[in-house]
Formats: sequence, C-alpha cells, structure tokens
Amino acid sequence: MDKVLISACLLGRPLRYNGTAKASGADTILDAWQAQGRLVAICPEVAVGFPTPRPPAEIAALGDELNAALQGADVLAGRAAVLEKTGRDVSDLYRRAARDTVQLAARHGCRHAVLTDGSPSCGSSFIYDGSFAGVTKAGMGTTAAALRQAGVRVWAETEITALNALLADQ
Ligand code: SF4
Repeated sequence: MDKVLISACLLGRPLRYNGTAKASGADTILDAWQAQGRLVAICPEVAVGFPTPRPPAEIAALGDELNAALQGADVLAGRAAVLEKTGRDVSDLYRRAARDTVQLAARHGCRHAVLTDGSPSCGSSFIYDGSFAGVTKAGMGTTAAALRQAGVRVWAETEITALNALLADQ
C-alpha cells in the first residue's frame, strides 16, 4: 500500500500559526486512509520547535524589494528568506524542517504528499508574496519544494479526491 505524507493540520490538529486546524473538505477520504494505516502525519514547523500559535511567516527577498518570482526552492538554495511578520529570519529552521520532512517521507516510502496550500512550508500551488498584506502568488513553500525535488508527488488539500482515485487504480 502506498503511504501518503500529510500535513498534520489537515487531520484536525490545531497546529497552524494562528492555532487552528485546516479543513480539507475531504474528511471521509482522510478517515478511510487513516483506518487503512496509509497516512504519515507531520507538521514540519512544529517538528523543528516552532510554537503554536506563532507569528505568520512569508517567503521574502533577501533585500527590501518584493520579488514575485521567489518561492520555496529559492529559500532552499539560499536565494530568498522566510521572515516572520516581526522581521525575524527563520530561514534556517524552515530549511531544516524541509530536510527532516523529506527524510521522514523516505523512511516511510511515501511517493505522495498532501500538504496544506498557502503555507510558506506546505503550500504547493500558492503562497503569500512576502508583503504580509494577504496577497497570494503561484508557488510552493519550502517543504513542498524539497519533497518535489526528492521525487515525492505533492498534492494540495483540494486534490485529495483526485489522489484517492489514483491510489484506487493502482
Ligand atoms: Fe499545517 Fe504545514 Fe503549517 Fe504545520 S507547517 S501547520 S502542517 S500548513
């Protein structure tokens, strides 16, 4: 059976920066996957020691300029930063979180990951633009990018039904 790495906040755990969980809209499928023992849950940020709640963080340029092209892979490569709204640079912790999550996926043989979209760690189709003004842009977070680089197929929570159909066909 293919195991699926999953953002822990999609399983009702209130681990997000604002102390909430994230609704997936696909609880029936997630319940079935859990009953099958298919899921490997991780919150990359909490796993490296971030508290909940914590300040919001966004992927930003190393200098003052906003740069719409920057995303998680640039943080992994040292070309961009993850900044908390307070201005604290948490890039190193985010890189460690990404690395640890890739290792966890490898240990469990996960070829798929379902991650919470929009997060600077877990976002897979969109993230925030670094302005802390609620502006989104297409892109991936740090952990999502690292998983993809490692060959794990990353799905957003809106794609759970599609992944379920794929897994059922295998
Ligand atoms: Fe959820 Fe990922 Fe944020 Fe943890 S880092 S709360 S798993 S979106």
